[in-house]
Amino acid sequence: TPPESIRNFCIIAHIDHGKSTLADRMLQITGVVADRDMRAQYLDRMDIERERGITIKSQAVRMPWAGEAGTVALNMIDTPGHVDFTYEVSRSLAACEGAILLVDAAQGIEAQTLANLYLALENDLTIIPVLNKIDLPAADPDKFAAELANLIGGSPDDVLRVSGKTGQGVEALLDRIVAEIPAPKGDAKAPARAMIFDSVYDAYRGVVTYVRMIDGHLHPRERIQMMSTRATHELLEIGVSSPEPKPSTGLGVGEVGYLITGVKDVRQSKVGDTVTTARTPATQALPGYTDPKPMVYSGLYPIDGSDYPDLREALDKLKLSDAALVYEPETSVALGFGFRCGFLGLLHLEIVSERLSREFGLDLITTAPSVIYEVTTDAGAQITVTNPSEYPDGKIASVTEPMVKAAILLPKDYVGTVMELCQTRRGTLLGMEYLSEERVELRYNIPLGEIVFDFFDQLKSKTQGYASLDYEPSGDQASDLVKVDILLQGDKVDAFSSIVHRDKAYAYGVLMTERLKKLIPRQQFEVPIQAAIGARIIARESIRAMRKDVLAKCYGGDISRKRKLLEKQKEGKKRMKMVGRVEVPQDAFIAALSGD
Ligand code: GDP
Ligand code: MG
Repeated sequence: TPPESIRNFCIIAHIDHGKSTLADRMLQITGVVADRDMRAQYLDRMDIERERGITIKSQAVRMPWAGEAGTVALNMIDTPGHVDFTYEVSRSLAACEGAILLVDAAQGIEAQTLANLYLALENDLTIIPVLNKIDLPAADPDKFAAELANLIGGSPDDVLRVSGKTGQGVEALLDRIVAEIPAPKGDAKAPARAMIFDSVYDAYRGVVTYVRMIDGHLHPRERIQMMSTRATHELLEIGVSSPEPKPSTGLGVGEVGYLITGVKDVRQSKVGDTVTTARTPATQALPGYTDPKPMVYSGLYPIDGSDYPDLREALDKLKLSDAALVYEPETSVALGFGFRCGFLGLLHLEIVSERLSREFGLDLITTAPSVIYEVTTDAGAQITVTNPSEYPDGKIASVTEPMVKAAILLPKDYVGTVMELCQTRRGTLLGMEYLSEERVELRYNIPLGEIVFDFFDQLKSKTQGYASLDYEPSGDQASDLVKVDILLQGDKVDAFSSIVHRDKAYAYGVLMTERLKKLIPRQQFEVPIQAAIGARIIARESIRAMRKDVLAKCYGGDISRKRKLLEKQKEGKKRMKMVGRVEVPQDAFIAALSGD
């Protein structure tokens, strides 16, 4: 297909504004998915993966559109299921010339609408503003068209109105894409250069690499070269997803498709790398993506210690398609063998642990998320701490913690409550703006460490779900932080150590000791639970010793009850971890770490 007849676009939206549903209608209207094969959220790969039990990622879909301007190949590059992954979104954006900015006509602009819009503008994309869900009785398209026009410039009349549900307006949208989004440009005669924007491991086909061709042409059966490593591979298959993989005779300028080389390790097909041919390699690689940097660390431990090798294998597999995931082995006195994992944020953490449990059947304990602290000791040593239990015990000269610039969008009635919340989280107000008469944007500089601890849940509950949040790193800042340890019978439970602001240390100590008192069953002896900063105890509870004989209570006759009790105890034993002499149920770790 000549570049003039290609349009590459993506859909950007706040979560739940209808991206997947609109994509469904486009697949149907362009005929690439027959009505009888249609099912909701066709491209939602998490669904597909669950259904078929293998990894297939439909990252880019090619749809022929015979519209007003003749037949054009539309490549819809799907930003993965979870749009909150800013780095994934920006990868997809770099492969497009235009973006549909989709906004729920009953909700208006939300935090991720803005965040994604800014990313699209940074990538110089042509933006098509679209209001979705106009079939809803609560839709107020006039109001939100004005809001959108206000945001991106232009007239409210330029804002398209569609319903992904009924299909209304979708054909007009496809025509608009052809008319407004520029055709891709590139040098067809130059050596091949293709940008890798995603790379997935598939159990049957090996690594599937998704590329956007910039210059030249790639053919099946030729040798390709990865420009960063100079490694060469035989190209076994090249094709396009439509939306099922369809082998083709090659990819030219502006086209989007996939490559299969039979390689088994995705690290050899790195996202952001440039693919060229081995015979006539290009000299200059395309500008890559900056490697995403983990922001939040957490320990992942198998509940059943014998699952450790499976966890390692599962992480290796996830890493294949998730460049942002980092991990290294770690041992915990309390939890045994596990991995310290780095994530881009809380959602990333949640999704990785959900995938580990759903796709790999692993039962895991996730320790409390921690950010990265830079500690300078009195002796002048510089230590990077991603695990609170590694926080140096000696004298500390200074500590810095990462800060974020947070944008919170909310109805004006909640401004007071939310400001209060941000204040208790050590936030500094940077600004406040009215997006419309009712909607306000609050901007805060706030420690990331305060956000990773249930901030979002608090924000949602304090605003009846009406607030949305987005944030980006804004550098490090020195703070008065201390490590609080939790001790059971004098033994430190490493998984419960936490780095908190000095003013909050006491409250954290009280919370954790009270929580553990409720969660840990009585033992044969009294168990003191303490919270400490260094050698100083700041909070204390104790679990009284168990009554001598629990079974004595069910005297005589009721054998079955007795047996049940014994069986229950045996069952319970299996899920106990020893901390010193104290038996702690796995559930207690999970509950104590989950927060509320
Ligand atoms: P995404 O998170 O942006 O992919 O949003 P989804 O496509 O999953 O849609 C979120 C919810 O909104 C789902 O319950 C959809 O059925 C619903 N929805 C999406 N588009 C429309 C629409 O045009 N009209 C109505 N009434 N509901 C819609
Ligand atoms: Mg979706």
